[in-house]
Amino acid sequence: MTTSPYKLNLHELPRRAGDFKDFRLDFAAPESIGNPMIEIPVKFPILITLKAESVSDGILVTGIITGKAVGECGRCLDPMTIEINQNFQELFFYENRADEDEEFTMEGDIADLEIPIRDAVILALPINPICSKNCRGLCSGCGEKWENLPGGHEHELIDPRWRGLSEWKSDPRFGR
Ligand SMILES: [Zn+2]
Ligand SMILES: [Zn+2]
Repeated sequence: MTTSPYKLNLHELPRRAGDFKDFRLDFAAPESIGNPMIEIPVKFPILITLKAESVSDGILVTGIITGKAVGECGRCLDPMTIEINQNFQELFFYENRADEDEEFTMEGDIADLEIPIRDAVILALPINPICSKNCRGLCSGCGEKWENLPGGHEHELIDPRWRGLSEWKSDPRFGR
């Protein structure tokens, strides 16, 4: 059996409704979590503090995930970091209480938190990360940051279909 840092061993928690126990999981991400724009990279630290509480049908896990995601601004492509502080809650059914379609079931004394944690982190990450609300992005003409360009910066955009015409117009032979 592979040992995943997401697997929480609950053998010390009495299966008596109302009993609870606090846990702290602190590990390096075995795989990255996120999307191509922003993610918690592999080996970055993840801290999970949680409370596991016995309820009638299983164990309710409530906690908070802390970590750092890195990526780049979707407008200016600057590297950026996002602090993650995301709550999550999941009920793990006892094996003998689970319906077939219940999503999370204890495996003996083990609750595998990987999917709830990954889902919570993905929820915490922006789909379009932006370094600041005021980020003005890049000039489409030269790729320079608008922030670094002087006011009034522009590129003469001449449609190639009209270039001939403008040359003709400026030709002195046509006496304009
Ligand atoms: Zn930006
Ligand atoms: Zn430009």
